[in-house]
Amino acid sequence: MAEYKDDNNKKQILVTGGAGYIGSHCVLALLKQGYNVVIFDNLSTGHIETVNSLKKYGNVDFYQGDLLNYSYLNTVFKQIAVDAVIHFAACSQVGESVKNPQKYYINNVCGTLNLLKAMLENNVKKIVFSSTAAIYGEPQYTPINEEHPLNPINPYGQTKLMIEKIMEDYDKAYGLSSVRFRYFNVAGADSKGIVGEWHEPETHLIPKILASTHSNERTFEIYGNNYKTKDGTCIRDYINVEDLAEAHVLALKYLENGGKTNFFNLGTNEGSSVKEVFKLCEEIAGKKINVIIRQKREGDPAILVADNSKAKDILGWQPEKKLMQSIKTAYKWGIINAR
Ligand code: UDP
Repeated sequence: MAEYKDDNNKKQILVTGGAGYIGSHCVLALLKQGYNVVIFDNLSTGHIETVNSLKKYGNVDFYQGDLLNYSYLNTVFKQIAVDAVIHFAACSQVGESVKNPQKYYINNVCGTLNLLKAMLENNVKKIVFSSTAAIYGEPQYTPINEEHPLNPINPYGQTKLMIEKIMEDYDKAYGLSSVRFRYFNVAGADSKGIVGEWHEPETHLIPKILASTHSNERTFEIYGNNYKTKDGTCIRDYINVEDLAEAHVLALKYLENGGKTNFFNLGTNEGSSVKEVFKLCEEIAGKKINVIIRQKREGDPAILVADNSKAKDILGWQPEKKLMQSIKTAYKWGIINAR
């Protein structure tokens, strides 16, 4: 606990989706900085065990609720003093969003509209929002900067882009300031193993490879090996989840200091191929895994790499951890929590 500041900074942050993967790492980063945190989460994909772990590290209140239930949400805002909101709660599976767009438009867009309404009604005017690189769609050049055209190719990306536009309009009309972060591929777990990635089912590359090292078959499927890349497999920019969480704290401080509505990529400027990630995972786990080559996954572009210079220049953010560290912490988390 020593490295966690006392709650001398009494600012209280409402974190929607704080029981989930990225949200929980952000809560830890806030607690380290002495913020009080209120988690609002419906636990549809987040976990009560995560909330209970977080409670050991600072002042955390938890409200189980759904953003679609406006009256409950508004009651929570009335009960507590909220200085700012960090908004993670959303459905986030691309494939599912194509099959069931209604779920995504209702949950993500209507849920956020309710959240913004409650904020305005209770005079809360600062929000940090988790957007996605999926709003850029098929890359027209790489690395991708924030000027890249916005052309999402699936309903998930559409919902995030709609919300970004809504936030722009709310700023102009109501003075609601936002920082929107466009995440690239988030990876790793916190270095102490307090929280980590826990999706059911797991669809992401690194936890899937690592899980296969524990299974009897020890097989792993690569989706496509004839992309126009150095080794034929897709290239992605893997940003460490603790580095990503730090950016949210910086964004809060930026808004607290009067910073204007803005949007930033969060990535590392470096790309790694699926095969490279796979090799590193084998190395860290010390096990060989059999690879099966499958068809390309629909909607997977060959290369997605961020240009992160804007976040560096304006927020002073600097990602520090390498992919190897993300895989190591993910592996440790997987071992502790083998399910
Ligand atoms: N991928 C893969 N096998 C898997 C899961 C993912 O080859 O079992 C590839 C996927 O095609 C993509 C990369 O790994 O190129 C990262 O996928 P992930 O689902 O982790 O993140 P996304 O890029 O979809 O946000």
